[in-house]
Amino acid sequence: MRKKIVAGNWKMNKTFKESKVLVKELTKSIKAIPLDNTRVIIAPPFTNLQKASKKTKDTAIEVSAQNMHQAENGAFTGEISAEMLKSIYVDIVILGHSERRAYFGETDELLAKKVNTALKHGLEIIFCFGEVLEDRKSGNHFKVVEEQIKNALFHLDSESWNKIILAYEPVWAIGTGETASPEQAQEMHAFIRELVAERYLSDVAEEVSILYGGSVKPANAKDIFSKEDVDGGLIGGAALNADDFIALVEAI
Ligand code: PEP
Repeated sequence: MRKKIVAGNWKMNKTFKESKVLVKELTKSIKAIPLDNTRVIIAPPFTNLQKASKKTKDTAIEVSAQNMHQAENGAFTGEISAEMLKSIYVDIVILGHSERRAYFGETDELLAKKVNTALKHGLEIIFCFGEVLEDRKSGNHFKVVEEQIKNALFHLDSESWNKIILAYEPVWAIGTGETASPEQAQEMHAFIRELVAERYLSDVAEEVSILYGGSVKPANAKDIFSKEDVDGGLIGGAALNADDFIALVEAI
C-alpha cells in the first residue's frame, strides 16, 4: 500500500536557532499522533540539515534536503553533493521545485542528471513539477506536466521508482494563497498515475505516492487529502509553524 506523506519545505527560512526550536516542537508533538502508514518529512535549509538530521534520528520525522548538485564533487562553488547529504544521514532530496526551475534555470534535462546522481547514491527523491497559470488557462496543463515527468523520470527502470515521490505543484498555487480545488488536484493526480501506469507496470503506478503542493493549510487540507489519488502534501508556508504543520499531519 502506498504511503501517505506530509513533507514541509522550509525554503530559505529559519536561522540555525529558529530551526532548532521548530524541530524540537515538531518532534515533541509528533509523538502524540498515530502515524499509520504516514511519513512526515521536513526539508530545512542546508545550514540546519545536519542538526535536524541528528535531532530527529529516533523520531518519526525524516529529513530531506531542498536541492543538490548533479556532479559527484569538484569546482562548483556554493553547491552540495549527494555524497555530502548521505554523509550527514540525509536520505531524501527535493528536486525540480518550481522556484529552482524559475529562478535558477533548472531544466528537465538538468533534472534528469540530478535524478540519476541522487539515485546512484541511494537518495530518495521528492520530484516536483507543475504548470504555470498560462498553461492552465490555455488548457495545456496536462501536456506540460506529462513532458516534465517524461523528460526527467521516464528513462528510469521500474525498480528505481521505489525511490521516487511525485509532487504536483501548480505554480499558480505556490505561496499565492490560491489552491487548486480538490477536484482539480484529483484530476491531475489521476492523470499522472495513469501516465506512470502506461509507461511502467500498474503496480509501479499504484505504489508511487503523489503529493499535492500549493497553499495547503489546516483549513483546506482535509478536502484535498481526502481525494483518492492525493497521497499527501508538499507544504511551504504552513510548514514554518509547528501547530500548522502538525495540524496538516493530523488531517491526512
Ligand atoms: C512549495 O513551495 O512547495 C509550496 C507548496 O509552498 P506553499 O505551501 O507556501 O504554497
